[in-house]
Amino acid sequence: MPLLEVGSLTIDYPTSRGAIRAVEDISFSLKKGETLGLAGESGSGKSTLGLSIIRLVPYPGVIVKGHIKIDETDILKLPEDEMRFIRGRKAAYIFQDPMTSLNPVKRIGAHFIELIRTHEPNTGKEEAFERTKTVVKNLGILSERINDYPHQFSGGMRQRIMIGLAIALNPDLVIADEPTTALDVIVQAKILDLLESLRKVYGMALILISHDLSIILERCDKIIIMYAGHMLEYATSIEMHRNPKHPYTQGLLQSIPNIELSDQKLVAIPGSPPDMLNPPKGCRFWPRCSYAKKICRVKEPPLIKVGRNHFVRCFLYGKKGVHVERNRKS
Ligand code: ATP
Ligand code: SF4
Repeated sequence: MPLLEVGSLTIDYPTSRGAIRAVEDISFSLKKGETLGLAGESGSGKSTLGLSIIRLVPYPGVIVKGHIKIDETDILKLPEDEMRFIRGRKAAYIFQDPMTSLNPVKRIGAHFIELIRTHEPNTGKEEAFERTKTVVKNLGILSERINDYPHQFSGGMRQRIMIGLAIALNPDLVIADEPTTALDVIVQAKILDLLESLRKVYGMALILISHDLSIILERCDKIIIMYAGHMLEYATSIEMHRNPKHPYTQGLLQSIPNIELSDQKLVAIPGSPPDMLNPPKGCRFWPRCSYAKKICRVKEPPLIKVGRNHFVRCFLYGKKGVHVERNRKS
């Protein structure tokens, strides 16, 4: 039984200029302890998809279709008070910018104690305090520092605190949305290592959202490549690395520097993502795809199975998941 099951999920942002379909017909599942990466350029729908899992799609976003099941319960059908129980205890979110999530006039320890006692009203102040000290120690922060305010910490330390707040209630699933974007590469690696070690200690599943495919490949069991609200490819990390199928995934991989290859030529994907108020007809990637054919401009390619646990949305692959061009008899 999967911990999380997302089916046919479709999310719109109605605007005065028309509706933006930020997420369209996305389905996937996640088992306990598994890690899933959501990769794609800015505006591809990663955060909207992530936030929908804790039912916090920002206004004016609406989930127009689909289901999100956590432990077989469709959270889209739950009343808000039950949803509050799920948030934090079953699934927690680590936001991009810790400064907007931490209260600047509240000491760090108070953030933890309030969180624990709000979700677990029977926990006394003393016990909540002791638990806070343990979590803070696990974050590699001296327990005395729980009396400090958020502005007294560096960006990396604040992001550690956000991770601590996400795991404090021992949820089954943590969604980390670009948790290291604003940090330098060394701090970035340390934070991701910390997240990984805590994930193992606490036995959580993780959804890691990043525009950086190299981070996702290194840290996740499986990957969804998002583009303009669509899932273009879904595979295990190993499969995605060894055998990427979609021209967009191939392009993303060619733009990752590899220090082991001295003569590597980095290739950027030409063009930019579409205007989501007016996305291209047919395959959303066709204006940037060097393989685009007539059919790609008029028809949307379906998501098809191309291997065990490997799916792709591209006309280059026929009904049985075989590359059409390569297998055409001349
Ligand atoms: P980023 O990496 O920049 O956060 P993303 O891949 O997470 O991007 P989303 O933030 O989910 O993408 O946005 C998906 C689409 O929905 C974009 O076209 C964006 O402009 C649109 N969108 C997001 N939030 C809103 C909103 N509150 N109102 C209207 N449109 C929105
Ligand atoms: Fe390129 Fe066509 Fe495949 Fe889209 S469907 S990625 S345009 S070949």
